[in-house]
Amino acid sequence: MSPWRDVGGPRSPVAHGAVLSTAAVDALLTTAETFVRDELIPLEPAVLTRPFREVRVQLAPLRARAKALGLWAPFLPERHGGRGLALVHFAEVSAILGRSPVGHYVCNCQAPDVGNMELLLSHGTEAQQAQWLAPLAAGGMRSCFAMTEPDRAGSNPTWLDTRAVRVGDEYALHGHKWFTTGADGAAFAIVMAVTDPDALPHRRASQLIVPMDAPGVELVRNISVMGEPGSDHASHAELRFHDVRVPVANRLGDDGAGFALAQERLGPGRIHHCMRWIGICDRAFELMCRRAVSRELGPGDLLASRQAVQHAIADSRAEIHAARLMVRDAAARVAAEGSHGAREEISLIKFFVAGVLQRVLDRAIQVHGALGLTDDLPLAYWWRHERGARIYDGADEVHKTVVARAVLRGYERAGG
Ligand SMILES: Cc1cc2nc3c(=O)[nH]c(=O)nc-3n(C[C@H](O)[C@H](O)[C@H](O)COP(=O)(O)OP(=O)(O)OC[C@H]3O[C@@H](n4cnc5c(N)ncnc54)[C@H](O)[C@@H]3O)c2cc1C
Repeated sequence: MSPWRDVGGPRSPVAHGAVLSTAAVDALLTTAETFVRDELIPLEPAVLTRPFREVRVQLAPLRARAKALGLWAPFLPERHGGRGLALVHFAEVSAILGRSPVGHYVCNCQAPDVGNMELLLSHGTEAQQAQWLAPLAAGGMRSCFAMTEPDRAGSNPTWLDTRAVRVGDEYALHGHKWFTTGADGAAFAIVMAVTDPDALPHRRASQLIVPMDAPGVELVRNISVMGEPGSDHASHAELRFHDVRVPVANRLGDDGAGFALAQERLGPGRIHHCMRWIGICDRAFELMCRRAVSRELGPGDLLASRQAVQHAIADSRAEIHAARLMVRDAAARVAAEGSHGAREEISLIKFFVAGVLQRVLDRAIQVHGALGLTDDLPLAYWWRHERGARIYDGADEVHKTVVARAVLRGYERAGG
């Protein structure tokens, strides 16, 4: 795909409990590379300039093609129509799909559906799986995840205003959420709401499956972000819940388990995001290098001859390589020890890779000059859409605190 090959260790390490052999995983990665290069990247002129709702029609046949190629929901078990990939292997697929702004959507492993499917798979009842997981897995519906509130700091997920009050075998849900990605057009939301305000902070909230067409659900607006209100899967909504009646049977897990489930969801979720960001970096890097060896400052005088450009390339090469190895290591740790055991590694990659993404995109834009700011290339799209990487799934500062505390605890235990 690119003259520069990743040399960062095996792409398909032996994974405990993996259902596919190393050779089968390698074949899948090659299929994904070819699909992205030959069928998704050519769609970019439309993806970058038209509302997602319009482009979705063009993407429908490609979703069917992803199924036929065995690239559909690769993280899901085969009985749910996926490939049953181990986390370390799905991470590699994710990096390849990340090279296109629509790679994950076309292969039905886009956030937040991927996290919702994982939650339903591990904590949904049989009835919940039949009603919500099966159509999500088949790509017949989309979902969203509503936790953050405009009037409460999202960085403290134990402090929520949204309440779900038990009334017989229903909850009465009242609340105000925002930045609910993909709510526009979603069939249901998984909503974090306080069900027991008197419990300990980490036991106060539960997660409820709320159909978006239930009476009292209001989609106030798609929030305009960096000049774009977005639509459909590519949007972030403000929502209000006005006395929405939700059957108790729609609660995921136990009463008060909302925070624990959110943490569990975010572990693999951060691996998915980080590998997607590395895919974006790979593509930006490739565009930057191609431009450097083709743009002339004068006849025969290539941009690539300038040391400033060479440094941008070398710095990016080093940072992407480091990021990839860190994420692979964190994925292996999550697989071995679960999200809780790997929380330090998860926090490390979350802020480190988000920073690499921002710097690599910035350098790639700079090397392209004015062209880098246009929608003729995907760089400006990613710049707008991924500035949030340092904020969502935990702001950088929160993750740095987690890492520093873990490091310092070791020193404190050793007596300084
Ligand atoms: C593109 C995007 C998509 C999103 N999608 C979803 C979604 O689908 N569902 C959902 O529920 N939410 C979603 N969010 C919301 C996201 O989870 C929150 O924005 C995030 O948790 C931060 O919360 P906040 O915006 O309220 O910032 P605040 O909590 O108000 O924090 C503001 C800033 O304060 C600083 N800060 C915060 N805590 C600390 C600390 N402990 N130490 C030092 N500094 C600190 C950080 O710089 C932070 O950026 C999305 C956000 C974005 C940008």
